[in-house]
Amino acid sequence: MGTPKDLNNPDVYAEALYHAAMTDDAKALACWLADDPEAEAGPFWKWYLHFAERLLDMAPDPEHGFVVRDRRTSQPPRIGRNDICPCGSGKKYKQCHLNQEGNVAWKLGSPTPAIRAVATSRLIHDCPPQVLDRVPRGKASDMVLTEMAATYHGHGRLDEAITLLSGVLAGNREDPYLLWDYWIARHAEWLVDAEREKDGEKFLLDEYDQPRKVTRWQVAQKLAAFYIDLGDTENANIWVDTAMEGNPENPFNHYLKGMLLHYVESWDEAAAAYERAEQLMTGFREEEKRYMNELVTDSLARAKNHQPLDDGQEEATPTGNPAGAELGQDQAS
Ligand SMILES: [Zn+2]
Repeated sequence: MGTPKDLNNPDVYAEALYHAAMTDDAKALACWLADDPEAEAGPFWKWYLHFAERLLDMAPDPEHGFVVRDRRTSQPPRIGRNDICPCGSGKKYKQCHLNQEGNVAWKLGSPTPAIRAVATSRLIHDCPPQVLDRVPRGKASDMVLTEMAATYHGHGRLDEAITLLSGVLAGNREDPYLLWDYWIARHAEWLVDAEREKDGEKFLLDEYDQPRKVTRWQVAQKLAAFYIDLGDTENANIWVDTAMEGNPENPFNHYLKGMLLHYVESWDEAAAAYERAEQLMTGFREEEKRYMNELVTDSLARAKNHQPLDDGQEEATPTGNPAGAELGQDQAS
């Protein structure tokens, strides 16, 4: 017998919802919750089974656009006076929580939007494209559609990826949990992958003229990265300066500036820009810092040694935030 899963922990709850979506076997799910293959013989079995059934009721389903449903088909088990109290005290119910149910959370509450998002994005990430092909697009949220787009992209189905993401970006952009500047960057990047550079350029320039849910300097930063990827340093310089004017404290802006100085062998200025990028990272989240350090450390060493950026470096141009809005780490790819 191991450690039962603590569904009060949002990460564990998200993992449980993910497992529920992958199975229809309530008993297996209950054993997973109990972390005990023999849980059926234990005193809390009916509770584990109840929670497993509740999770199956709520699990996101591809056939329904990955909506987290709340069907409530499962009823909480009745507790006899002489049963062991489900609170885990080991006492009989009548000597413990009888008539005090209000004090104890027996019920599994509905998952918060963040929990749903984590469980759903992990599930979509693991879905084979054939399953995603059957998802009714009209029922899927913007979050689901962007995750589907990223998954298609991961499977090399670039056209579907671009079509889905274009649709979301052309919509109302109302989802407060989506990082719009990240998805704008991906969209431009995928258009370049598809050898549609002109479309990518037009897309970013239109966004710059009429930004929605992003700021102008963020779009200017994407344009700078876009032109760096294309080897157009003249335009890249213009846009990185525009981005810098809009936000002189953003580390990615300094990193991009460093790259451009690096290309023209302004070693000291390039090193200074990279160092500034590193300094400005201090207030950022850990995962973003790690990502940024990966980018900057090698470039900085090269600038100090008067070496050009290596060819692989081009791939690492930050066209957006690294990790997106996910709580989990699964989806950083
Ligand atoms: Zn109790």
